[in-house]
Amino acid sequence: MRKKRVLSGMRPTGKLHLGHLAGALENWVKLQSEYECFFMVADWHALMSEYKQSSLICEYSIDNVIDWLSVGIDPQVSTIFIQSAIVEHLELSMVLSCIVPLSWVERVPTYKEQLKELKNRDIHTYGFLGYPILQAADILIYNADVVPVGLDQLPHLELTREISRKFNYLYKRRLFKEPKDLLTPTPKLLGIDGRKMSKSYNNTINLSDSIDVVKKKVVSMVTDPKRIYKSDPGHPETCNVHAYYEVFFSDYASIVADYCRGAGVGCRDCKEDLAGRLNDKLRPLREKRKELLTKKDKILKIIARGNKKASSQASKMMRKIKGAIKL
Ligand code: SF4
Repeated sequence: MRKKRVLSGMRPTGKLHLGHLAGALENWVKLQSEYECFFMVADWHALMSEYKQSSLICEYSIDNVIDWLSVGIDPQVSTIFIQSAIVEHLELSMVLSCIVPLSWVERVPTYKEQLKELKNRDIHTYGFLGYPILQAADILIYNADVVPVGLDQLPHLELTREISRKFNYLYKRRLFKEPKDLLTPTPKLLGIDGRKMSKSYNNTINLSDSIDVVKKKVVSMVTDPKRIYKSDPGHPETCNVHAYYEVFFSDYASIVADYCRGAGVGCRDCKEDLAGRLNDKLRPLREKRKELLTKKDKILKIIARGNKKASSQASKMMRKIKGAIKL
């Protein structure tokens, strides 16, 4: 029996960090055994916000793929590809944009949120308004059965289902599936300064950071503001350092919390311990990454093979789509 197909992707707008590891990559690695996975470097989506510094997108695309491989994405099992190498994404996006009413894209809640959030980018553009349509095309061109999403992404997937239904209804055939969500818990991981984790705030711990950089970043983390002296009992529930323990070392988090509440450990020692644990966790990734960096040709071959497989699927689907609309 054919495995169900998963489509997921990341925008190559910067180096990947611990938020990507906990929020997506660890899940991707698990999905590989159960699903036929298509993992996409969403460079068209990156261009929507990064069009003024577009020359970095290509560099980040390769760098992100190296991180994917380092954490355990297996290119023998999963298809790793670059969105812009598969022309059918844009072709289908064009078709869908003809049938989607403007109000459907305007009501997507993340559209307004992103306009507010990306203040340092001018994204009041035609392309950015249409990103949910391109996202729908990304999914439907592979007829993905399942899409891993966080709660905030659910409206996008619902829009994709609506578009799928509308196309099938208009052209009187069951061409597109209605992809199901695979709800993935997104751990609440803030940046080292306690604000939202974002490369634009320069508050991320990157998967490619060295041992010393990780240590320096963790030691600088904001802790419980009410704990002034080592003898003060701490409040782990309001401490960002403790949130990292919960996300990455859940078995140990309650022990840290007990020590913290009983003033049994100082914040400096607590952070040094966290840095050591994170460095241990990242060690195998670093070793794999170092090895892959000496084999750039191998990375390019993996991407070329993935592009070929994705292209073959997408072109077959596009022929059927053109057949349905009689173009
Ligand atoms: S001891 Fe650890 S968990 Fe407690 S406030 Fe300090 S850094 Fe946070």
